[in-house]
Amino acid sequence: MPERHVRIVAVTDVEIARTIPAEEWAALEPMINAIEQLKVERDAVVLAHNYITPAIYHGVADLTGDSLGLARAAAETDAEVVVFAGVHFMAESAKIICPDKTVLIPDPTAGCSLAASITGADIRRLRKRYPGVPVVSYVNTSVEVKAETDICCTSSNAVAVVESLGADRVIFVPDKYLGHYVASQTDTEIIFWEGACEVHERFSGEELREYRRSVPGVPIIAHPECPPDVLDEADYVGSTAGMIGWVKGNRPERVVMVTECSMSDNVAVEVPDVELVRPCNLCPHMKKITLEKVRNSLLCLEHEVLVDPEIAARARQAVDRMLSVSGTG
Ligand code: SF4
Repeated sequence: MPERHVRIVAVTDVEIARTIPAEEWAALEPMINAIEQLKVERDAVVLAHNYITPAIYHGVADLTGDSLGLARAAAETDAEVVVFAGVHFMAESAKIICPDKTVLIPDPTAGCSLAASITGADIRRLRKRYPGVPVVSYVNTSVEVKAETDICCTSSNAVAVVESLGADRVIFVPDKYLGHYVASQTDTEIIFWEGACEVHERFSGEELREYRRSVPGVPIIAHPECPPDVLDEADYVGSTAGMIGWVKGNRPERVVMVTECSMSDNVAVEVPDVELVRPCNLCPHMKKITLEKVRNSLLCLEHEVLVDPEIAARARQAVDRMLSVSGTG
């Protein structure tokens, strides 16, 4: 086992005053330092998705990012144990990319409206209905769904993945809004599935027009999982990583970031000179992951994510095909 050292986290170590008041941070310190100690004892790393609470994201995470980026980064660490602070399909993705590591999720009931909207059996039915039409699945899906699909995609590479197939028609699952966005960017005919992210679906174009009226000239950036009337109002449409990159690259005085609440909190720490106007919606599934549950996960080595090796191998193929598409890796 590689040598590990305990990282002692103190109030002054992190610049998160914009997100967590100093008194609250001080109250979290004992729990954070207990987690740091357990990480060393368990030879573990904590991965935190961008939508996870700032206390975990800034307090104990070793790696932060989007779901696929985290899974791939986890494979490159020498830790034996991976605690995935995110929802269940993300921990599954980490397991299929790091099959030899022990992958833990602090709360196994942390689900996702999008991943829950479709099953492997649904994909088999779609294939019967549209024989020979390739299936592209967004990575926000269960391992069973990935195993039934030809190729996966993320929100940043969905257009390139669809076009790489060279097909006249493509079945695109499960996010109907991301599917509509892809359809607007390509000549390929898209067959949709009626899934949606309950967080991004709640935004509306009217809400954004109201921001424009109250803050004239402010740029608006949004995720392609949002409904079309929201994207019509956006100055930039991109993935989570794309939106973060846009803010860091453009450094506007202020920007309307249409996203999940913790993500805008976490980005705010990284760009203290930018005022983030936040019409945010909370993801209730992500909020099931708490510092206390991360501590318990390390303490009891619970809840291990297990995936049938045959299903994992087929799912992995769909992910690897995506990574082999030029410019999407
Ligand atoms: S934000 Fe949306 S896609 Fe992400 S976990 Fe929550 S419900 Fe699922």
